[in-house]
Amino acid sequence: MSSSNMEINPFTKKAYSANFFVLRNLAQTLPVSQRLPQLLSTIKTSNVVIVVGETGSGTTTQLPKAIVLDDELKKSGKKLALTQNRRLAAQLIAARIAEEMDTQIGNVVGLKHRGRDSINQSTILEVITDGSLVEVAKNDPSLPAYGVIVIDEAHQHTVATDLLLGLLKELATKRNDDLKIIIMSATTDAGLFLNFFPGSVLETVSGGEHKVLVQYLAEPPDENTIVETILQVHLIGRAGNILVFVSGVGEMMRIIKKVEKALSGDKARFGEHEIGPLTCWPLHATLSLEAQDDAIDSVPPAPRGELIGRKLLVSTNIAETSVTLTGVTHVIDSCKVKSKIWNPCDESWCLRELWVSKAVARQRAGRAGRTREGNVYRMCTEGGFHEALLEHSVPAIKEGDMLSECLDIFKMGRSPLTFPYIVAPATETIGKALSILFQLGLVDARGQDLTARGQDIARLPVNVYSAVVLLESPEYGCSDEMLSLISMMEASDGGIDVFIKPSTPDEKAEIRRIRKTFCHVSGDHLTLFNIYMSWRQACNENTADDFVKKNKLNAGVLRTADRTRLQLFRMLISNEKWELLYMDSSKPDYYLAMLKALAAGNYLRVAKRTEGRTY
Ligand code: ADP
Ligand code: MG
Repeated sequence: MSSSNMEINPFTKKAYSANFFVLRNLAQTLPVSQRLPQLLSTIKTSNVVIVVGETGSGTTTQLPKAIVLDDELKKSGKKLALTQNRRLAAQLIAARIAEEMDTQIGNVVGLKHRGRDSINQSTILEVITDGSLVEVAKNDPSLPAYGVIVIDEAHQHTVATDLLLGLLKELATKRNDDLKIIIMSATTDAGLFLNFFPGSVLETVSGGEHKVLVQYLAEPPDENTIVETILQVHLIGRAGNILVFVSGVGEMMRIIKKVEKALSGDKARFGEHEIGPLTCWPLHATLSLEAQDDAIDSVPPAPRGELIGRKLLVSTNIAETSVTLTGVTHVIDSCKVKSKIWNPCDESWCLRELWVSKAVARQRAGRAGRTREGNVYRMCTEGGFHEALLEHSVPAIKEGDMLSECLDIFKMGRSPLTFPYIVAPATETIGKALSILFQLGLVDARGQDLTARGQDIARLPVNVYSAVVLLESPEYGCSDEMLSLISMMEASDGGIDVFIKPSTPDEKAEIRRIRKTFCHVSGDHLTLFNIYMSWRQACNENTADDFVKKNKLNAGVLRTADRTRLQLFRMLISNEKWELLYMDSSKPDYYLAMLKALAAGNYLRVAKRTEGRTY
């Protein structure tokens, strides 16, 4: 190639790689590509644009990139933020956009989520989880670093996205000459967004998804239907990976165990046919990001003469939106999800397994048609699907306790009572939340502003009760211990995930036995603390891997706890009233001090057991 027609990447000052041109050609075939000139011109003349794009049309990967490459739009010198609802999606989208721009994450294309901050001075396009953007807004609610904010998957109505929409509604007026707001949504209920943002303009982009053939069961499923469907698809389905959506990690592990057993029991049938072997991968939020990466990596090219095989990904809902999992052509959908729902009347959470909405089922099906035609097998009858599933999911803000959200709203300089919610939580929930926050001394009696203590608490990215514990713990001389304990609580979802999920009754019994060895009479909190301390000791002795294996612990949870601990420590130590204090573990009041610190944050939630199981 002569130097005259060699194109130079302005960001890296190097010649573009061959891969760049391959991806550019691919991108040009996406429906959004023809529409980019029109979209950019609308964005230049309107400050709030609602983009309704059918999934697969290319809006997520192409539009933000086109904006930062546009001479007129990039003049402001400020960054573009592209939100994603989940860490996994943020990670994958950032990697894809960076690859398409022939760079790596951490320069022109940045990535930010809890646990990772790959942003530097040259970052112009920042892929950020909606939760992290709320954190940024808590420090400076006018979001001055950004000239363009793109809210992706707005129809999902995560709590963080809905809070951002409320904030942006006000910023649209306040920063009307230097902020462009783009709301991207996959469904056609654009009316909600158009009404919410006065003067906003609608653009639609259609097409893009490859065809996905939908199949239902003839009869309602039993406990083996998913496993049978997997084996069937592996045996006779056309080439491509299989993605299964289930509602929980326990079910996921049982399915993987059963599939592996069937495969090893009948090698002739399942191992040697024309596709090659099937490998099973779990995918859920409590896996470390590295393990998630391994799971979604494409199948490596097979050595010459060997069959490439198939990957089976068994996933919770973390893979249902935004992402393209390479090579997936079969989706098996349980159509179920587990949700944690807050009941303001008796102030309790409950965990329920529910049908997903039809909108979510369509998103899940779409994962099979990202790179070519695909199939979805829904684990219900067609009649059942239409009867039992709602059209849209209930927005999460209606199902939570609003405690930390109220603090977030105060921190963003607004009041929960007058905040412009795009979807409003129940009035009872806000009232209850404000009264709890008042009792904890975090808001004033009129519910109008944070107290000084509330200001300190609102900065900590953990639940309100735990934040109070952390802040108070120096008074009990055990702030170091409480940091470990609370980080473990956070990382393990309150202790639920600290052990691996048993896949056999024997394993279950063994885990119960192991649990006893760490058990503390005063309950789960101290048990978690003991596990963490033993693991740290094993780390110091370089035996952590053995320790985790022997005790059937979830290594990802322990590592996450460690990262969370460091993050919380950095935030707390910047507060001059706080100091790191250790207890002497040989002293008789070692555990007692910790229990006192725990009670200091949780006294509103204390119940006394009267007899048997009544409180
Ligand atoms: P949309 O946001 O409109 O649903 P995206 O911009 O995320 O679509 O992706 C558009 C298309 O680009 C996908 O359907 C897929 O064909 C391709 N694509 C995106 N990301 C990847 C990836 N990581 N690997 C392979 N193909 C990808
Ligand atoms: Mg998208």
